[in-house]
Amino acid sequence: MKVGIVGASGAVGLEIIKLLQERKFNLSSLTLFGSKRSAGKSIKFRNKRIVIKQLKSSSLKEFDLIFFSAGSKISKQYAPIAAKNNCIVIDNSSAFRMKKNIPLIVPEINGGDLQRNKSKIIANPNCTTIISLMAIKPLYDLSPIKRIIATSFQSVSGAGNLGMEELEKNTKNFLSKKETGKNRVFERNIAFNVIPKIGEITKNLYSEEEMKLHNESRKILSDKKIKVTATTVRVPVLRSHSISLNLEFKNKVTLNKAKKALNNFPGLKNIDLGDQASFPTPIDSSNKDECLVGRLRTDYSIKNGISLWVVGDQIRKGAALNAVQIAEYLQKI
Ligand code: NAP
Repeated sequence: MKVGIVGASGAVGLEIIKLLQERKFNLSSLTLFGSKRSAGKSIKFRNKRIVIKQLKSSSLKEFDLIFFSAGSKISKQYAPIAAKNNCIVIDNSSAFRMKKNIPLIVPEINGGDLQRNKSKIIANPNCTTIISLMAIKPLYDLSPIKRIIATSFQSVSGAGNLGMEELEKNTKNFLSKKETGKNRVFERNIAFNVIPKIGEITKNLYSEEEMKLHNESRKILSDKKIKVTATTVRVPVLRSHSISLNLEFKNKVTLNKAKKALNNFPGLKNIDLGDQASFPTPIDSSNKDECLVGRLRTDYSIKNGISLWVVGDQIRKGAALNAVQIAEYLQKI
C-alpha cells in the first residue's frame, strides 16, 4: 500500500508518522508533503529519513491512501484530486465532515458505516467531538439520550504547533513582566488565562467549535433528535482536551450499569471508577491512546441524569490515532 501524508510537519502529521511506526502499519512506501516552508526538510520513519515534498496536484497520483492534515483549505483543493485518482483520503479537517455522502467515523462507534459507504473520502471528526463521544456512546447504548450539556477545556495544541509556541511565549513574557506584543494564534493572552471562544461565532451566537459538537455528534450517532449544547474553552494546557458532560437520558441509568458499560468500551481503558473522587487530568492522558473517564455521578437535579468528566489526547485519539484506526479498519474489510 502506497501511503502519503499531507501536512507531515504539523502536530497531527508528526503524530500520524509516529503511529504508523508504532503500530507497524502495513505499507510499501510513505511520501510526505508540506508547503514551501517545510519542503526539503526530512523526518525519520523506520530508520530512514524521508524528505518532505512540496504539495502539488500533479504529485497526488498512484497513491492507495493519503492522510490530509493541513487544514480545510488544502483539503478542499487537493483531496478531491487524490480521490479522483482512485486514492482513499482520510481527512482531518472540517472540509467534508457534514457532507451527506461522506462518512464521519470513530471506529469504535460507527466503524460499520465504512462497509456500507464506499466513498473515497472519509472524514475524521472534530477532536472534542471524538473524545466526548468515546465517553457518551457506551452510556447512549443503555438508554437514548435526550440532551447533552458539554463544557470543554481545550489544550493549545488543538491549534497546532503554533498554539504550543504561543503558550510558551506568553508564559515567559508574563513571568518576566514583558509586553507580549501581537499574538498570532489566540485572540487573548493564553498564559494564566482561559478563552471562552474557539473558532468564529456563528449566527446563533454559538462558536464554530460548539456547533461542530452538536452537528457531528448527531451524524456519528445517526440521531437527529439528540440535543447538544456546548461551551468550548481554550485553556493553558499543552496537550489533551478535557470535557465536562451532563447527560439527560430517556430512561433511568444506574451508576453501576454506567460504570460497567464504560469499563467494557474499547478505547476507554484505565478508568478508575471505583473511587468516586478519581479524576483523570490532561497530563494523565497525554501521549496515550485511551480516553480516561472520572467524576461519574448521578445528577441529583433532574430525573434521569448522569454527569462525568473525560480527558483524551486530542492529537492522538482526537486526530492522528482515529485516522490511523480508520485506515486499519479499511485494510481489514
Ligand atoms: P499545524 O501544526 O499548524 O500543521 C499544519 C500542517 O499543514 C503543516 O505540516 C504545514 O506544513 C501544512 N501546510 C500548511 N499549508 C500548506 C500548504 N499550502 N501545502 C501543504 N501543506 C501545508 O496544524 P495541525 O494541528 O497539525 O492540524 C492539521 C489539521 O488537523 C487541521 O485541519 C486541524 O483542524 C486538524 N486537527 C487538528 C487537531 C489538533 O489537535 N491539532 C485535532 C483534530 C484535527 P508546513 O510546515 O510546510 O507549513
